[in-house]
Amino acid sequence: MKFSEFIDKYAAHPEYHAPRGSQLNAKSWQTEAPLRMLLNNLDREVAENPEELVVYGGTGQAARNKEALQQIIKCLLTLDEDHSLLVQSGKAVGIVRTHPQAPRVLIANSNLVPAWATWEHFERLKQDGLMMYGQMTAGSWIYIGSQGILQGTYETFMACGKKYFNDDLIHKLLVSGGLGGMGGAQPLAATMAGATYLGVDIDPERIKKRLKTGYIDHMVYTYREAVDLVLSAKEKGEAISVGLVADIGDTLQHLIDDGITPDILTDQTSAHDPLHGYIPNGISLEEASLLRKSDPKKYLELSMKSMARHVGLMLELQNRGSVTFDYGNNLREMAKQGGEPNAYDYDGFTPKFIRPLFCEGKGPFRWAALSGDPEDIFATDQALIEAFPDNLPMINWLKKARERVSFQGLPARICWLGMGEREKAGLLFNDLVRTGRVKAPLVIGRDHLDCGSVASPNRETEKMKDGSDAVSDWPLLNLMSNTAGGATWVSFHHGGGVGMGYSQHAGMVVLADGTDRAEECIRRVLYNDPAMGIFRHHDAGYEEATETLHQFGMEF
Ligand code: NAD
Repeated sequence: MKFSEFIDKYAAHPEYHAPRGSQLNAKSWQTEAPLRMLLNNLDREVAENPEELVVYGGTGQAARNKEALQQIIKCLLTLDEDHSLLVQSGKAVGIVRTHPQAPRVLIANSNLVPAWATWEHFERLKQDGLMMYGQMTAGSWIYIGSQGILQGTYETFMACGKKYFNDDLIHKLLVSGGLGGMGGAQPLAATMAGATYLGVDIDPERIKKRLKTGYIDHMVYTYREAVDLVLSAKEKGEAISVGLVADIGDTLQHLIDDGITPDILTDQTSAHDPLHGYIPNGISLEEASLLRKSDPKKYLELSMKSMARHVGLMLELQNRGSVTFDYGNNLREMAKQGGEPNAYDYDGFTPKFIRPLFCEGKGPFRWAALSGDPEDIFATDQALIEAFPDNLPMINWLKKARERVSFQGLPARICWLGMGEREKAGLLFNDLVRTGRVKAPLVIGRDHLDCGSVASPNRETEKMKDGSDAVSDWPLLNLMSNTAGGATWVSFHHGGGVGMGYSQHAGMVVLADGTDRAEECIRRVLYNDPAMGIFRHHDAGYEEATETLHQFGMEF
């Protein structure tokens, strides 16, 4: 197919679709895989705003602009196995000589020298067409829709239930803000965990998208309807989810006024980006969009003030008994800067619930079927269930996911796996491709939010035992290990999750195309990647990580 025909068929802006089936468009699966995943990130079913090439997380983009995107597509269609494409903040900038086991694409997004690493400086560069915000999996082409965070959110809510509610979330009300790309996973995760859920989003379109994909049960426009629904469901012990179109701060104020204290309280508005992500209290979406352009300074002022109020109300509810935690959007920092001095008086989700998993090398392992056939994912589910008969939580998860998760774009699955398990699963998947039990290759990747791939002092590395929260040598070592190990594409980003100046993180995707080459790469990459989490936490003094290190004979 000619380049122009390919663009017309799969990339006519803003209607993007990944090719399906087992026929190659590129020269090999090593380049077909990133090509399909890039286009999949921008598929309307997957991306929050394909018109702007925004995938999720506020302004997280897959490519810098339309022209840059077409150039990347052109390069991927013609790249061979002895070369690698360089992508700088969403734009192809060169091709280097490498070898068949090297990554085919090397990606760097949104990186700035530390003293310049502010939204203000970034915004100037963006306006000049020099940069884009890559979030975590937007600019690294391994976003799989809301499912990508579903299991992590489910595990977090379950861990919360275990710690505070005797392992039982039935008759418990969970309240949160934000029903966007990632936040939209909360209602389904909460109801899967047994809780009653109230989610608040100012943008009705976002809630409609969750209704369409089956992530939320009800959408309402008034506070009264919302509380009536959730209070009655809570009393009956019904795990239902309700999306209310409103400002989250106003809703929390109403709950306080009515003496309603949620059992669990968190937030996933795009607080990390006070200019483009968070909508200030008291103004409509349309007014917000005008003000952002006409007077960005004023917008920022209102936004930070609203976040200070929002966190003040969360603290009040915490005082009244809500189990309250930050869910990785840097809301506390913005609220502090906006005038709430006690913003950090509630914990982040990593130290509260997730770090013990990181010490076992566990993290959000995910894979996608390049064939586009859901049966291929069901085949991988079944293969995992047979290969890990003793891992009951995993089996339980895979069964629930099959029943309740609808796919967005290319069929995909997430499943938190640890050291040893990831390598075993990867080799199993390569065998499924080799023996024709799936119709086309699979790609295996993960979120940048993982055990050894991120430095983010307000999130993944908050309150590290040895105080090394801000040390970003670790994600760089992770990037280098995965490059040396032979991942199919690798990435290093700045600012994901929590915004400019607050994080640095690395991503990787490795291809399972049934070849011996893929097997060798998988053996190395899916050992190295979780191993980084164990090295990182062992070095920081976590005994659980040291135990895992011994268990896998990783002493050095
Ligand atoms: P998104 O931009 O797709 O959605 C954010 C939503 O917040 C939007 O729907 C927006 O309308 C809503 N919103 C903004 N201001 C509001 C207000 N005042 N009241 C009510 N709703 C409001 O972002 P996303 O992909 O859902 O990510 C949400 C946040 O979570 C981001 O900050 C992101 O960086 C972070 N994040 C966390 C994790 C994690 O593991 N915890 C993972 C990925 C992203």
